[in-house]
Amino acid sequence: MAKSITLLGSTGSIGTQSLDVARMHGYEIFGLAANSRVELLLEQIAEFHPRYVAVVNPDACDRLDAALAGTAGAPRLLRGAEGLRELAAMEGPDVVLNAVVGIAGLPASLAAIESGHDLALANKESLVTGGHLVTDAVKKHGVHLLPVDSEHSAIFQCLQDQHSAKRLEKILLTASGGPFFGMTTGELRGKTKQDALRHPNWNMGAKITIDSATLMNKGLELIEAVWLFGLPEDKIQIVVQRESIIHSAVQFADHSVIAQMGVPDMRIPIQYALTWPDRLESPVPELDFAALHKLSFDVADEETFRCLAAAKKAIRKGGLGPCAANGANEEAVRLFLQDRIGFLDIGRLVEGVVDSDSFGGDYTLQDVYACDRMAREYVRAHI
Ligand code: NAD
Ligand code: MG
Repeated sequence: MAKSITLLGSTGSIGTQSLDVARMHGYEIFGLAANSRVELLLEQIAEFHPRYVAVVNPDACDRLDAALAGTAGAPRLLRGAEGLRELAAMEGPDVVLNAVVGIAGLPASLAAIESGHDLALANKESLVTGGHLVTDAVKKHGVHLLPVDSEHSAIFQCLQDQHSAKRLEKILLTASGGPFFGMTTGELRGKTKQDALRHPNWNMGAKITIDSATLMNKGLELIEAVWLFGLPEDKIQIVVQRESIIHSAVQFADHSVIAQMGVPDMRIPIQYALTWPDRLESPVPELDFAALHKLSFDVADEETFRCLAAAKKAIRKGGLGPCAANGANEEAVRLFLQDRIGFLDIGRLVEGVVDSDSFGGDYTLQDVYACDRMAREYVRAHI
C-alpha cells in the first residue's frame, strides 16, 4: 500500500481527486507536477508540502518561482518537460501516479518505470502511443502497473483471483455512450463543443470529455486493455452501459462473467490503485440498488462514431498505428476546442491518418515522437 506519492497532473480532474484520496488517508505527497495552473498549485503546495514541484509551461514556472520566493520550506522547482521526467524518476515515493493528459505523459511513465517505481496509470495515452515500450519496461524492471482508468481498474479487480485469471476468455469493456448516444451522423453534424462538453455521468477534463462524445475514449481504452491484459482486440467487446454502474466485466473459459460495480466516482479506482492489494474505507457513497431501478445495455455504433472504428483499425495494424490515431485525435480535439473544425471532422481526420500507412513493426521512443508529429501534421494539412 502506498504511503508516499508523486502525483503528475495534480491540477486536473484526476489529479485533484487523487489529492482527495491522499487527504483522506494521510498520504505524503513527495512531488507534484502540472502544466500551468499556478494558483491551484500554490494551494496544493500549502496543503501537502511536497518536496519537489515540476511545472511544464515556462511562464507558469516563472510565476510559481516568484510566488514561492522567500517562502520557508518551499519545494524545489523543476522546469519544463525535462523537469517532469526528472521528478517521475526521483527516488522517494512508493508510487508514481500519472494523471497528465495526452502523449506528454509517456516520457514520465517510462522514467518512473525505468527508475523502479510502481506506476498508477490514469494517462491512457502512455499505453496507446508506446504500449510495447511501457509493457517491456514494466517486465524488465519488475514493477507494478496499476490501472486508474475506471474500466481497467474494474477488469483488474475482476482478475484478482490468479487461478481464474489464467482462464480469461473475453473482456466486456463498458461505455456510457457519451452525450450523443443514439444520434445519427446528420444529428451529429452541427454539434458544438458546448454540446460535447456536457457528459451525462462523469465530470472530467476537456480532452477526455470530447473523447467520450466521439467514442475515441473507448477506442483508446480498447487499446489500453490490449496492452494491460494481453487479449487481442477481437476478445474485447464494447458494451454500452448507459448508467455507468457496471465499470467493466470479464468472462472466463466456463462463460462465467464477473463484473465490478459502484457509483460513477473516480475516487474508487484511484484509491484502489494506491491501496492494492488492500482496500480501505472511502468517502464515495455506496451503490443504492433500491434507487437504481434498472441497468440498460446496448451496442456501440461504429458506423456513426468513426473514431471507434479507426481506433480498432489502428490496433489491428499494430506497431505505430495506435500512436498515429492518438496523435491525430489530440490535434483534432485541440482544433475542435478552438472551434476550428466540426465534430464529425475529428473522426474523419483520425480515420484518415490510420488509413494513410501500414504502421506495422517494432518502434523506438524516437519513432513514437516522429509518428505523433506526422499525425498532427496530417491533421493540420487536411482540415
Ligand atoms: P485534465 O485536463 O483535467 O488534467 C490534466 C493534467 O495534466 C493537469 O494537471 C495539467 O496541468 C497536466 N498537463 C497538461 N498538459 C501537460 C503537459 N504537456 N505536461 C505535463 N502536464 C500536463 O485531465 P483529466 O481529465 O484529469 O485526465 C488526465 C488523464 O487521465 C488523461 O489521460 C485521461 O484520459 C485519464 N482519465 C481521466 C478520467 C477522468 O475522469 N477525468 C478518467 C479516466 C482516465
Ligand atoms: Mg475510462
